[in-house]
Amino acid sequence: MKKVIVSACLLGEYCRYDGKTKRVNGIVDAYKGYEIIPFCPEAPLFGTPRERIALVATETKIKVMTEETKKDVTALLEEEILAFCHKHTDIDAIVLKSKSPSCGNQTTPILYANGEVMQLGDGIATQIFKKKYEKIPFYDETDLE
Ligand code: SF4
Repeated sequence: MKKVIVSACLLGEYCRYDGKTKRVNGIVDAYKGYEIIPFCPEAPLFGTPRERIALVATETKIKVMTEETKKDVTALLEEEILAFCHKHTDIDAIVLKSKSPSCGNQTTPILYANGEVMQLGDGIATQIFKKKYEKIPFYDETDLE
C-alpha cells in the first residue's frame, strides 16, 4: 500500500500550539487507498497548548526559537524529526501544513532577531524531509482545498 505523511493538525488532531486543529476534510478523500501517517513533531516534545516557536536567522544558521522565553529548540526538533524519518523510510507523498515553523513549505516566515520577517522558507521538518525524501512530491493544504 502507498504511504502519505500528513501533518496531524490537517487530519483533525488538536495538536496546534493554541490547542486547536486545522482539519482539511478533503485530504483523507484525496488519499483514499493510501496508508496515512500522521506527523507532528512539536506536540510530543512541548505539549499542547504550548508556547509558539519561530524560525530565526542568526549569523551562522537558522534556529528554531520559542517566541517568549527565547529558548533554542532546534536540536530537540531535529532529533524528533530524524527519529520519525528513521521509522518511515518508504513514503510516496507528503502533505504538510503551510506557514508552520515545523511544517511549512516555502511559506514559513524566517525572522530577524528583532522579529521582522526576513524572507519565507521551509519549516524545520520540511528542510529535513527534503533531504530524506528526495523525489517525493510535497504538497500543503492549499494544494488540496
Ligand atoms: S503544523 Fe506541524 S508541528 Fe504544527 S501542529 Fe500541525 S503537524 Fe504539528
